[in-house]
Amino acid sequence: MAPEPILTLRDVRTYFPVKKGVFRSTVGHVKAVDGVDLDVYRGEVLGLVGESGCGKTTLGKSILQLVRPTGGAIAFHDGDDTVDLPALSHDEMVPYRKKLQIVFQDPYSSLNPAFTIFGSLEDPLIKYGVGSRAERRRIIGDLLEAVNLPRDYMDRYPNEFSGGQRQRVGIARALCIEPELIVCDEPVSALDVSVQAQVLHLLMELKRDRGLTYIFITHDLSVTEYICDRIAVMYLGRIVELASAEDLYADTLHPYTQALLSAIPVADLDKKTKRIVLDGDVPSPVNPPSGCPFHPRCRHATDTCKAERPKLRPFGDRGHLAACHRVEELQDIVANDGHSIHSEKHVDQSGGKQPTAN
Ligand code: SF4
Repeated sequence: MAPEPILTLRDVRTYFPVKKGVFRSTVGHVKAVDGVDLDVYRGEVLGLVGESGCGKTTLGKSILQLVRPTGGAIAFHDGDDTVDLPALSHDEMVPYRKKLQIVFQDPYSSLNPAFTIFGSLEDPLIKYGVGSRAERRRIIGDLLEAVNLPRDYMDRYPNEFSGGQRQRVGIARALCIEPELIVCDEPVSALDVSVQAQVLHLLMELKRDRGLTYIFITHDLSVTEYICDRIAVMYLGRIVELASAEDLYADTLHPYTQALLSAIPVADLDKKTKRIVLDGDVPSPVNPPSGCPFHPRCRHATDTCKAERPKLRPFGDRGHLAACHRVEELQDIVANDGHSIHSEKHVDQSGGKQPTAN
């Protein structure tokens, strides 16, 4: 059976004005998201990855209408109905907010320190007219148990919780009103490694039990391989590669993705590839480079790359897409010379700049 889309994004753009001078005139735009086409399928975990500033968090917030996109369409498929979320007014958006939730990186900043956990979690239930106070206490107790916290913790305050426990509360709050899709924005990157694994395991259990769809935003490609069904790699507000997790790791097509993957630490020395060091810094999204936006940092760039923007196009019949003019040539190099594309590039001999830090 063909996968059923829950979201369809077409040419989504989110720009922020740059203002200057006494009169705060607009002198340019930060193009945080710059023409994203993407389908999200019901029940999948879609990873959105890339360096800090690539636009992944802005895209997540644009989907939820926490930031209003500048242009493009974001269709939410709700049973037989399809609604274009950016076209809805604030009031018209209310029923859909219930179905689309977010888990933030830092749950502490999103929990009111003056409220008990019950107070924070009761708020959305009241807003959507759920039950009496006694009923809401029962629901919140059940939710805390679902995220492996004792139900009587609802009467505690946020400062009484550890980082991992607060993230569990953040997940419980996202689940309060029974959403269909959750944007998980770096949900484990602020946690200790041992706690990260527990929270990821919990997220996957909840997804399975409740039939949820996740958009999982992260800079950490070592996490996405194990939890994502598909992965979209973003660079300067655009998707440069999209594939199943299996294909992305086994047959990486885009030079930027190759650089990201080469920087993942691996315990098995036999599997270790040489690090690819990228030239320069991420260009400004106010004034992105011409042609392929990655060309100033790409060792394979040609004059064509500098002049023409590559389209996201398919390779093979498994839904693997990449935006690079030279995918076929670079694959031929591997096939003919029997060595990895990685070995042609800069290799990290001296602790050079790596593209992973968020
Ligand atoms: Fe590099 Fe050119 Fe491909 Fe862009 S289009 S990633 S510059 S080879």
